[in-house]
Amino acid sequence: MIVQCCVCGKIRHDARWIIPTHQQLKNEQISHTYCPLCAHKTITEYRKNRTLLLSPIIPKTTPQSC
Ligand SMILES: [Zn+2]
Repeated sequence: MIVQCCVCGKIRHDARWIIPTHQQLKNEQISHTYCPLCAHKTITEYRKNRTLLLSPIIPKTTPQSC
């Protein structure tokens, strides 16, 4: 079975991630995952987006005046 990165399409070959040839993908069961590079990118993006999403929820410290 081939393990393929779902972002960049590279496959794991021994301990390395390489761009697959058509022959390597032919008649193979493919399991999708993230290669270390895309995993790092995805986590970084996720953290950035999460910060953006959470920022409007932070309560304002300015007191209301009557
Ligand atoms: Zn990748």
